Amino acid sequence: MVMQDAVFRRIEEKQEDLVALTCDLIRFPTVNPPGEAYTPCAEFLGERLRKRGFDVSYHRAEGVVGDSARYPRTNVVARIEGSRPGPCVHFNGHIDVVAAGRGWSVDPFAPVVRDGRVYGRGACDMKGGIAAAVIAVEALVEQEGGFAGALEISGTVDEESGGYAGVGYLAQQGLFSRPRVDHVIIPEPLNVDRVCIGHRGVWWAEVETRGRIAHGSMPFLGDCAVRHMGAFLQRLESELYPALAEKRTAMPVVPEGARQSTLNINAIHGGLAEDFEGLPAPMVPDSCRMVLDRRYLIEEDPEAVKNEIVSILESLKHDRAGFDYALKEVLAFQPTLTDAGAPVVRAVSAAIEAVLGRPAEQVVSPGTYDQKHIVRVGHLEDCIAYGPGILDLAHQPDEYVGIDDMIASAKVMASATLALLGSAAAG
Ligand SMILES: [Zn+2]
Repeated sequence: MVMQDAVFRRIEEKQEDLVALTCDLIRFPTVNPPGEAYTPCAEFLGERLRKRGFDVSYHRAEGVVGDSARYPRTNVVARIEGSRPGPCVHFNGHIDVVAAGRGWSVDPFAPVVRDGRVYGRGACDMKGGIAAAVIAVEALVEQEGGFAGALEISGTVDEESGGYAGVGYLAQQGLFSRPRVDHVIIPEPLNVDRVCIGHRGVWWAEVETRGRIAHGSMPFLGDCAVRHMGAFLQRLESELYPALAEKRTAMPVVPEGARQSTLNINAIHGGLAEDFEGLPAPMVPDSCRMVLDRRYLIEEDPEAVKNEIVSILESLKHDRAGFDYALKEVLAFQPTLTDAGAPVVRAVSAAIEAVLGRPAEQVVSPGTYDQKHIVRVGHLEDCIAYGPGILDLAHQPDEYVGIDDMIASAKVMASATLALLGSAAAG
């Protein structure tokens, strides 16, 4: 406890540094897509940690989707050994942000500190979380007497687009597996008093209905792909949506509306290109494409999720004259759920209660994040998300992170790390 109090004081003393670091990270416009400014941002983080005694390595995901000479997918991993052997706690944050979009009252990449908050694109999701983790780890490293085990921090790319060239790539290289790493905390914005133990599954697919082109004045000579898609859409409305609403989960997903299976029609397009110039030419569309975003529950079988769509398409093919389709899977990630009794869940929950004076809430994220790669590829189960940002502000205009929340979360991360290193060393 004495040690913990000293670390907490050190974190409080670092408040200015924490705010400055958050601002510095926001100034890199690491917008994804396309993956702007990844290398300078990763190097900035790496250089800071190298100066503080970390071994720093850079891992470019060459050849992985998204990587190019213009937009290199550069990840940074920093590690520091303690004074005696023990387990390793790893903090992972994604450096990419989504496009600023419209509606900002400040310049999204020129951070503003106002009323105890830092504003800017990525303040909440999740540069504020990265900064809090860095400050927590630095406070631990500076502590007299040292620590058992090792601490790692990584800044990774492409989380917003699936994480293949980021955590997915590092996990394939063995950087998220035992014996190198034992516990992982991802400071995603899930609110300062919540431990996120997993996420729902995702299945994205593109459905194309096909027809036959003809003159628009004689549609009976062609076959309209948009009408075929309309028939599919009708079946989704009458059959699938009601069925999905019935599927409830025991996962504590927040917000509550996501405690069921969901389906978003992400895009639909048929006929003339959307950006055509001039007046439209009369024609019967011979192709219509729909992008589906299906989120599913740990209780569901991924194959069954796909089959629900396939069986509707097949039955249309059987029943509806001229109906033909193609189905392309775009991406698929299975749900993950860390055991509520896992060491990192218990350590972070206890730390939240100690720092904030109220019990931690265990939640599950409606969308996926990089935990899937760590669990599924790295086979490391002891992984959670915990960070200072407010979930609802992610990807919004004028997103911000509260400075008090960053300080509190840094204390929680430091306290949980002490418990994870200490308890394992004693055991
Ligand atoms: Zn995020």
